[in-house]
Amino acid sequence: MKNHFIPVSQNAKTGPIPVSITERASCWPGCALYENGCYAETGALAMHWRRVSNGLAGGSWAEFCARIAALKPGRLWRYAQAGDLPGCGAVIDDTLLQMLVAANAGKRVIAFTHKPVLGDDPVAAENRRLIAAAVEAGFIVNLSANNPVHADELAALGIAPVVTVLTHAYARSAIRHRFKRHKDVWSETTGEWRDRTALLPQHTPAGRRIAVCPATYSDATCKSCGACARSRDVVIGFPAHGAWRQVEAVTAARDVPVDEGWAFRDHRTMAEVIAAEAQTA
Ligand code: SF4
Repeated sequence: MKNHFIPVSQNAKTGPIPVSITERASCWPGCALYENGCYAETGALAMHWRRVSNGLAGGSWAEFCARIAALKPGRLWRYAQAGDLPGCGAVIDDTLLQMLVAANAGKRVIAFTHKPVLGDDPVAAENRRLIAAAVEAGFIVNLSANNPVHADELAALGIAPVVTVLTHAYARSAIRHRFKRHKDVWSETTGEWRDRTALLPQHTPAGRRIAVCPATYSDATCKSCGACARSRDVVIGFPAHGAWRQVEAVTAARDVPVDEGWAFRDHRTMAEVIAAEAQTA
């Protein structure tokens, strides 16, 4: 599996920490955001990701793991700012993940996965087992939810911390830069943002607390925060931004069972479901 290690990220949100990119084949086409609003599919990151996936940048998995093993103890780093856990599509490659978990020993990783983990499907069951073992060994994988309902389902597994997409209403208004090495310029004050978002749900439907990622509303970075590198009960939320209307549409749909493929033809958004129900009422 092709991978690129970057010793010092220039991304304004991660801050200057080591980051990596894993080839496109690691992504599960059933992910709600696959070719459908994923932040890594546009801009400079997308160009870099294509080069890694085509073998024009980066190197082998073994070389990558050697770079991680050489990091200082306690070092915070971000795995796969584009891409997912090793393994093609829905599958996690047990051997490659174990190599990475071993290399990460003593370091602090921020990792996310959109691979399927719910339901009786054998691949999902195996993914649960592998992720639980990785987290147990100190390689913190955050299960990525499409919305707070999905977050509750993932959190109920009890195997790993959970993050979720939130609607754009949670985002602090800003003039955003296309190139992520530049910080966004806020166009509302922290107080205005807090007042405006105070009435939005602060908990998932099952009562788990949602904390909005501080890098999305303040000058915090992953380097200064590090919350995603810790086991925790709180669900960290990322307000939809960029192509946020598209992201909201694909993540808010309720008429598709979670973890079934989203690359389907008859997809309806939440608004369309409500409109259809209103017509038949
Ligand atoms: S919550 Fe903290 S560690 Fe997680 S993405 Fe946001 S800034 Fe980074």
